[in-house]
Amino acid sequence: MIIGRVLENEKRVKFDVEIHCNNCGKNVPGGLQTGESYFQTHEFRIELDNFKKNYLCGICRDHNRRNQQ
Ligand SMILES: [Zn+2]
Repeated sequence: MIIGRVLENEKRVKFDVEIHCNNCGKNVPGGLQTGESYFQTHEFRIELDNFKKNYLCGICRDHNRRNQQ
């Protein structure tokens, strides 16, 4: 998964974070990528934080979608 900003022709940084589904608490493999210049910036940390706070696993996301229809 890519989060944040990757500039054209920019190298990507791959990193692993612990992500838990915010609905069922399941641990999700957190292999993420972002652009080299964005990695570890203040904005990056905020975005990563928000990403983790809002993350739903595939099952819960499907479930939500079905409920909204
Ligand atoms: Zn879930």
